[in-house]
Amino acid sequence: MEGPAPGKFLFADAGTDRLIALADGPAPWLRPHFVDNRGMLLSKIQALVIDTGSRRIIVDTCLGNGKERAVPNWSGLQLPFLEDLAAAGYPTESIDTVVCTHLHVDHVGWNTRLEDGAWVPTFPNARYLFVRGEYQYWNEAGYADEPILEDSITPVMEAGLVDLVAADHVLLDEGGTVVRFEPTFGHTPAHVSVVIESVGRRAVISGDLIHHPVQMAIPNWASRFDYDADATRATRKAFLDRYADGSTLVIGTHFATPSAGKIVALDAGTWKLEV
Ligand SMILES: [Zn+2]
Repeated sequence: MEGPAPGKFLFADAGTDRLIALADGPAPWLRPHFVDNRGMLLSKIQALVIDTGSRRIIVDTCLGNGKERAVPNWSGLQLPFLEDLAAAGYPTESIDTVVCTHLHVDHVGWNTRLEDGAWVPTFPNARYLFVRGEYQYWNEAGYADEPILEDSITPVMEAGLVDLVAADHVLLDEGGTVVRFEPTFGHTPAHVSVVIESVGRRAVISGDLIHHPVQMAIPNWASRFDYDADATRATRKAFLDRYADGSTLVIGTHFATPSAGKIVALDAGTWKLEV
């Protein structure tokens, strides 16, 4: 799913006038990909597949179909996600690993699908990796008004497909390719990013510690979905600093197309995404 949305859905200060002023002024790089001419934020919800030739890892499973959700546009969806995934060369049976960077609604949806009135694992041949602290938190705290545990998490647990792992877990290390979690806590209690290193090159899937590239221009803007806004600010600044190295490809889980770029440090503690 991709398109424009009011900035205030995510950030308290992201009114249309403010976003237009930002793109007209200190952050022209936000146009055309990330802020439109009406001052709306452009973003997407997507799954990413890491295909090493021998392994197929899907990272974040979006919203899912037919789920009862609080956000009207996210509820009762009937989208051709699995058909699109198969058409891209990745039928569900071919996926060997499912990763959720964190257990929010838009990252766990296709963990399951409805079959004969029951929620069953979408990826029957995969191990599902949840960070232990993340699972424990949501399993105890629950979700305010949505049956996310019941429809997207517990069914894969009960099917015996889940491995609870550490926040620095190494998913694979073979033939010069490493895929590993990197702890980036704050947005949720045990949120992780996914680092991919291969043939001397590095990419990182950010997850939601940067919801939108506008947070490179204003790193202090906290998403209203952050569990700990101050911790997320510190994590975000450290992440931006670490990966403004001129070579790392940063792939944003919610960044609008083209979704990926290099982080460049600017003046006064701000950054930009060079796509
Ligand atoms: Zn998200």
